[in-house]
Amino acid sequence: MKYAAAVRTDVGRRRLENEDSFCLAPDIGLYVVADGMGGHAAGEVASRIAVETIREWVTRSRSGDGEAPESVTAACLADGIQAANRAVFEAAQARPECSGMGTTVVSVLEAGPRVVLAHVGDSRIYRIRAGGIAQLSRDHSVVQEQIDRGLLSQEEAATSRYRHLITRALGLQPSVEVDVQEQACQAGDILLLCSDGLSDMLEADEILDLVRRHRDDLRVACAALVEQANARGGVDNITVLLVQACEHGGAPSRSHLEAPTLEIPESLVGEWIPGA
Ligand code: MN
Repeated sequence: MKYAAAVRTDVGRRRLENEDSFCLAPDIGLYVVADGMGGHAAGEVASRIAVETIREWVTRSRSGDGEAPESVTAACLADGIQAANRAVFEAAQARPECSGMGTTVVSVLEAGPRVVLAHVGDSRIYRIRAGGIAQLSRDHSVVQEQIDRGLLSQEEAATSRYRHLITRALGLQPSVEVDVQEQACQAGDILLLCSDGLSDMLEADEILDLVRRHRDDLRVACAALVEQANARGGVDNITVLLVQACEHGGAPSRSHLEAPTLEIPESLVGEWIPGA
């Protein structure tokens, strides 16, 4: 399977800093979005440390292992997130201005015809397939727990004053529980990774509609999603990363070594518009 990907991050309309970070690394088949939290720009430090630690971990684990089985890939991503948790935790201990910082993380790692997904916190992974959209990640949040217990409806959760309280994050404890899953990919599937600056502003059906309308150009789709989140108020930083499974390749287990099928211009990667 070959994969194409694009990303866009934006500060939004209300915040002064962008504390989201991302990694788009088709050479190692890795895609990550992280949403940092903590005062005085510490959130940006946390999300950046997390993303860079995972990237380094996967790069080292995958060097020369083009034939790695999927179970190894799953462990690699989970271990990379544990390493990121330790790195953020240690930085928070070592630097007074970073005390209490933390970050969410959502990640996808290519594993031949399958993908490994792992996450902590309330950033999300959706899958768009055959005209439908499904949320594959389960929020680690207070309102999700209340929904699970039947104490809150989805509609009530959307407006709850507690909806931003998360129950897990990287960097707060020496170790963290990571949710990991594997999914088979079909050609045409699109995985969408996002921070809550997107999912708070747009319903899943609206996300689906915008991606389907622009599915022939993932960069345009990312831009349209960010633009719509800003049109709704842009109350938080917005990051959206799209990964599309394109076709069945001849040597799927080595797909992460192949060049990306979609070139991302340097000018677009990480682009954000202060204040907009
Ligand atoms: Mn956020």
